[in-house]
Amino acid sequence: MTAYELVCGMEVHAELKTNTKMFCGCKNDPFHAPQPNIYTCPVCLGMPGGLPVANNKAIEWTIKLGLALNCKINLFSHFDRKNYFYPDLAKGYQISQYDQPFCYDGKLETEMGTVRIRRIHLEEDTAKLQHKTINGEKVSLIDFNRSSVPLIEIVTEPDLITPEHAKAYGKALRQILRFLDIADCDMEQGGMRLEANVSIRPIGEKDLPNYKVELKNINSFRFLEKAVAFEVKRQAVVLEEGQTPVQETRGWDDDKGETYSQRVKEDAEDYRYFPDPDLPPLRFTEEQINAWCAELPELPAALKARWASEYSIDPKYAEVLSEDKDSAEWADQIFRKAADQQLNPNAIANAIVNKKVAASVGDSAEKVIAAFTELNKTESMDEGELSKIVAEVVTENVDAVAQYKAGKVQVLGFFMGQVQRKLGKKVDVQLVKAALEKVLNS
Ligand SMILES: [Zn+2]
Repeated sequence: MTAYELVCGMEVHAELKTNTKMFCGCKNDPFHAPQPNIYTCPVCLGMPGGLPVANNKAIEWTIKLGLALNCKINLFSHFDRKNYFYPDLAKGYQISQYDQPFCYDGKLETEMGTVRIRRIHLEEDTAKLQHKTINGEKVSLIDFNRSSVPLIEIVTEPDLITPEHAKAYGKALRQILRFLDIADCDMEQGGMRLEANVSIRPIGEKDLPNYKVELKNINSFRFLEKAVAFEVKRQAVVLEEGQTPVQETRGWDDDKGETYSQRVKEDAEDYRYFPDPDLPPLRFTEEQINAWCAELPELPAALKARWASEYSIDPKYAEVLSEDKDSAEWADQIFRKAADQQLNPNAIANAIVNKKVAASVGDSAEKVIAAFTELNKTESMDEGELSKIVAEVVTENVDAVAQYKAGKVQVLGFFMGQVQRKLGKKVDVQLVKAALEKVLNS
């Protein structure tokens, strides 16, 4: 059988967490709304005559994401109408960006290689459709709370070389969105959605395959990894039979552990994009872009490099502790305080990650350091105190000593319990065991 390699690009959508929607003043909080259809107005309900006004914060955040991903920024840009019919799109078109997205030509470094970013554009989300059965009747319900929520789309080049790489890219992207504090990325609710375009080619071939399968509606990184891995195998079988895999959209069924066909594309879709006449084009100055660039926070890669050089934090602990912004800021404070007190920040990172101390994000640095110091105390327990207590326990339990010496080694457990009770604190059991054996075997 031929050896194949993966050719995979990704399209990720994320809802921005601005206070208001993309083109109207309605509240942007679809996941916490107490009722459907309460954050609505004529604009986001798609009523004729409703005039959209672009949300400047959403534009600024999209460009900041572009800067964080090393993108070039279009100084002239505009919104387009993408025309198609679907019940969750009341206007009959979605406001999006076509030929002049805000950001293009960027890259994101992951531990498995560089991923080139083709473009980042800003658009509006659609309403949410729900199919239900009410009183025995099948109905479709529409909730417009989500209609016109700002939505960014980040498109990569086909640079993802393995299923694990696709997952690593998704996680790295989410980490940056969270560091910028512009999106919650709640995958379960659909606040972040993953799509992968998957095809394979014989190893050594340079041309892109003449087909691609779109994996859609994937709501976890783990499912993404599994679905891409499944497709690699499935497509290899089709190619080995001398066929070309069908160009289609597929979903992931986690119960069956396989992808399934959702929609076969007959023709390339024609959305008849054209510039939205209700929204003026946008112009930015270099000064404006530079000012936004200066406002970027310290991003994950820079943070991890600083932790390594200032505090010698092991990369695997840094990875866990920098997963989101809150955790990163929390760990940073702890490391700084620990270094001030001449403690070893990496030992504390180890204790937190491996749950040797009970610490959760938000606990004060003092509290975490105190817990760590306490833990250290148990480990370097005063040997004099320990041998004194061991001697006491041995003297008080002559019968048990006799049993131990006669070969009944299980008695050691009893001795250990006695010593720990007398010590009255959490101790390193290995230390106690060693001290006991030293006395009992002498
Ligand atoms: Zn509205």
